[in-house]
Amino acid sequence: MSSPETVTQAVAPAKVSPDGCVAVVNAGSSSVKFAIYEPDARQDVRYHGKIEGIGTAPRLKVERPDGETVSERSWRAEALDVQAATLEVLRTAADLIRGSPIAGIGHRVVHGGTDFAAPIRVDDAVVAALKRLIPLAPLHQPFNLAAIEAIAQAAPHIPQVACFDTAFHRSQPALAQLFGLPRKFAEEGVRRYGFHGLSYEYIAGRLAETAPELARGRVIAAHLGNGASLCAMKGGRCVATTMGFTAVDGLLMGTRCGTLDPGVVLYLMDEKGLSVRDVEDLVYRRSGLLGVSGVSSDMRGLRASPEPAAAEAIALFVYRVVREAGSLAAALGGLDGLVFTAGIGENDPQTRAEIAAGCAWLGLELDETRNARGSGRVSRDGSPVEVWVIPTNEEAMIARHAAAVLATI
Ligand code: ADP
Repeated sequence: MSSPETVTQAVAPAKVSPDGCVAVVNAGSSSVKFAIYEPDARQDVRYHGKIEGIGTAPRLKVERPDGETVSERSWRAEALDVQAATLEVLRTAADLIRGSPIAGIGHRVVHGGTDFAAPIRVDDAVVAALKRLIPLAPLHQPFNLAAIEAIAQAAPHIPQVACFDTAFHRSQPALAQLFGLPRKFAEEGVRRYGFHGLSYEYIAGRLAETAPELARGRVIAAHLGNGASLCAMKGGRCVATTMGFTAVDGLLMGTRCGTLDPGVVLYLMDEKGLSVRDVEDLVYRRSGLLGVSGVSSDMRGLRASPEPAAAEAIALFVYRVVREAGSLAAALGGLDGLVFTAGIGENDPQTRAEIAAGCAWLGLELDETRNARGSGRVSRDGSPVEVWVIPTNEEAMIARHAAAVLATI
């Protein structure tokens, strides 16, 4: 295991070179994912890696973009917590790019609250402000910050940039952020924030490059992965989104229930004796596709299953997307395009077809051949609403943000 001192020796040039590589770190409760981007063409990735199984069986794997594995290692469970894993990542990165220093590190940080509407260079004051948001995202924010603090301690000369999943949604009108609760709660931060913002920002950028006219219009982006949400964009800016105060709201997801009558939570606690932690476990980890099907949280697993409950879980997933798409189309005052992205959105033509069929009344007309091929525009020529498949890349978005902030230092 690396101590902070050995990491400092490994990565520390006398001062940070503006020509160094940009690293991206995405730290969670049981994994630290990372990537290293080229110094010049900052969008070209050199390596992807992750340490998975933190707390159980930590193992590192690093690959080149072509899939060739360049490094593998494992540890005993007690050897690595998230901070130690982050230092291992840093040391591994320094080994891999020996000769070209790390110019800076971009982090995915799930919650920026109401204050952080753009990526920001991290200092002590920023960390303190982000720590105050931990109660709003207890499952993610502490680990994002643990990684930042580990690096700040071990390699204080490396600039770090926090990039927020909430930031893209700060453009939502005030009404779209309000719950129907007494006003004081909104003032205390109980409001609809929205997540998956780095993905939507990337999609908005790609759409502006590939279909500029559509990008200026009214578009719903559908990020359908294990986590799933929709985002309504007008001219590339968010006006509404299905996730709210937390990332459990909105669509049915792999293991999250999505929108739920709060009366259900009261009933479960009052009548069934569930504790707060029980409810948390239920709505985040035991619900969604997994809970409804009793088979799997994974769309591929459900598609392959003969169980009627698996088919019903998929049907509910599609139904929820279609209903929420209607709601977002209302918020947009009409619809010009829909973009599918993330694991299911990019790879599952059948789910795309079922969602498009449910949204036919809005004017979506898929082209079967294009949908089966699954990239670029998949709607028929002349379809009143264009349908696109655009692979997302949150990591590249973070690298770009980090590079832009570093350029100002
Ligand atoms: P995460 O939110 O964890 O990043 P992903 O974006 O990787 O998740 O999406 C994972 C989901 O994508 C899983 O439900 C998986 O089954 C689904 N998926 C991936 N490839 C396919 C495919 N070829 N067909 C259907 N579903 C797929």
